[in-house]
Amino acid sequence: MNSTFRVSICGGGIGGLMLAVVIGKYGTHPVDIFEAGPTITTFGAGIGLFGRTMDVMEDLGLYDEFIKLAVKPPQENTSSTFRKSDQRDGYHWFSVHLKHGQLMLHRKDVVDFLLQYLPASCKIHTSKKINSYEVDSETGKITLHFSDGDSSVTDVLVGADGIHSATRGTMYKKLASSIEDDESRKKLLKCIDPVWTGMLAYRNLVPIEKLLKAYPDLETPINVTLHMGKDKHIVTFPVSKGKLINVVIFHHNCGTFGSPFEGRWVTDVPEEEVLHLFEGWDIRAEALVKCVEKPSRWALHSLRPLPHYVDGAVALLGDAAHAMEPHFGAGAGQAMEDAYVLGRLLTHELTHLGNVADALKTYEEARLAFANSVVQRSHDVARYYSFSVPPEGSETVPFDGAPEELDYMRKAMVDAWEWQSEPGRVWDNAEQLWRAKHST
Ligand SMILES: Cc1cc2nc3c(=O)[nH]c(=O)nc-3n(C[C@H](O)[C@H](O)[C@H](O)COP(=O)(O)OP(=O)(O)OC[C@H]3O[C@@H](n4cnc5c(N)ncnc54)[C@H](O)[C@@H]3O)c2cc1C
Repeated sequence: MNSTFRVSICGGGIGGLMLAVVIGKYGTHPVDIFEAGPTITTFGAGIGLFGRTMDVMEDLGLYDEFIKLAVKPPQENTSSTFRKSDQRDGYHWFSVHLKHGQLMLHRKDVVDFLLQYLPASCKIHTSKKINSYEVDSETGKITLHFSDGDSSVTDVLVGADGIHSATRGTMYKKLASSIEDDESRKKLLKCIDPVWTGMLAYRNLVPIEKLLKAYPDLETPINVTLHMGKDKHIVTFPVSKGKLINVVIFHHNCGTFGSPFEGRWVTDVPEEEVLHLFEGWDIRAEALVKCVEKPSRWALHSLRPLPHYVDGAVALLGDAAHAMEPHFGAGAGQAMEDAYVLGRLLTHELTHLGNVADALKTYEEARLAFANSVVQRSHDVARYYSFSVPPEGSETVPFDGAPEELDYMRKAMVDAWEWQSEPGRVWDNAEQLWRAKHST
């Protein structure tokens, strides 16, 4: 059986690049990355990665080099500081301690790092936007159709094409077309489009020099800090060796989850749009907001948990499979876990062209339930950050900052973060599943 086959990756984001790196490390398959943009680059600013992802980088033998790009928290196991900030005398509320802490990176550094480790067998094709694909029912070959009229044939297709994934669109239309029951068909088609989470995020990188010049009494930010208050929170952490502070301002519009968002999802806005939101807040929070220049506003969308990540020799990965709210800073980490498991299965000694669809099914079995649970947890934790979760035993949200309410929310947030400390040896489970399928 042919153990070498062509893998096409749709999308050169963190997930797609990571998959190509893993395939190059463990195998020899020819890999094509088709990227819609004119270059391989990334939008957005800072990115936090946790112990689970570091375990994966360690398995790949890349940890020592990767860690050089990151700002690490001062204490190995302190990840995030949570402050109650919607009052002038804001205060340190609690900290969350996680194995390895949280690494803080510039997104561009992560992309540039992965580009360095692409194998020679990997070709990048830019300005190649995939519109759809079709599968030859006799040969199993997959034809990719691009928006410029070109096409390309492959054995395996991985949709790493982000939240708007054209691969997901084609896969779910195909799955739906084979279903007779109206309700089930509609349910599948509903999985294609992302939903607005009711939340706006304003992102910006603030030079540390600017912040300290304007507010010389502020301590230099050294780790992830959340400034929380009713309906709003700010996440900050240093990146680029501490020269820049990643500032993300979240404005929750509670109760609007799932409603349509009118307007552009990502757009630059004037500072005034955020300034007034934080009047009367703690001086540290106010200082950060006042230093933000022309933030980009993101209308945060996520996917409904998908019932399938795989159909035949086509798989979805990263945001294409499980775009989530960013409240655990987990989206890229989960994309990297997907890529690691999928890359190892594609290059496994037991995998060949004849059983590659089963290998992809094993990827789905190993990843879908977990990644979908992170989508749900990322949604739930936002309700704590915005103080919009009903206290224990109550149906309503009368939050008025009473000590017992604060205590309840503190415990809930600490518990919610625990999963990020679990070991990230994600491959062991998948390999056991794959080997077990061959022992019967
Ligand atoms: C405000 C905010 C903060 C975040 N913070 C964090 C964090 O701290 N930590 C973390 O882990 N995650 C974070 N995330 C999530 C993280 O950014 C994503 O989960 C991650 O980038 C997903 O990677 P991906 O490769 O799956 O998709 P993407 O990064 O979206 O890459 C998809 C690629 O596919 C290309 N593409 C799209 N369509 C096509 C097509 N039809 N044909 C060809 N190419 C195509 C795109 O141009 C792009 O290059 C955050 C997200 C937001 C919005």
